[in-house]
Amino acid sequence: MDLTHQRKLKERGIKIAYAQIEEEGFITYYQGQPVMMLQEGLPEIRENEVVAHELGHYDHDNDAVVYGNYKDSDRARTVMEGQANDAMLKQTLSEYLNYNDLTPKEINPVQFLQSYGLSMGLEDNVNGLLRM
Ligand SMILES: [Zn+2]
Repeated sequence: MDLTHQRKLKERGIKIAYAQIEEEGFITYYQGQPVMMLQEGLPEIRENEVVAHELGHYDHDNDAVVYGNYKDSDRARTVMEGQANDAMLKQTLSEYLNYNDLTPKEINPVQFLQSYGLSMGLEDNVNGLLRM
């Protein structure tokens, strides 16, 4: 896991635990302590994406009261997954811009997604972020 993620987790007081789980990762609470569970043996690049995505949930899911309970509502789940993905993409995009010395206007969303092995279904999200 990269150092930026480790620092963010530490700042938020989130502990990390690796386990043989079906999901790639999620945040749970153990006796009031937030714990990020991560699947054992994920490739590092994927682990970083999962951590960024779950951090996105942690930072944004409070907004979900507006949309109802995550488990009970497809609408809430969709909004929350979208926010978590946007948070993950935002961070990945800024790394990509810095690393390749590009401005947002110079980015090709498809090339960006391909170079990180991300789903092409996220192209609209990338375009949305580039317009911000
Ligand atoms: Zn999610």
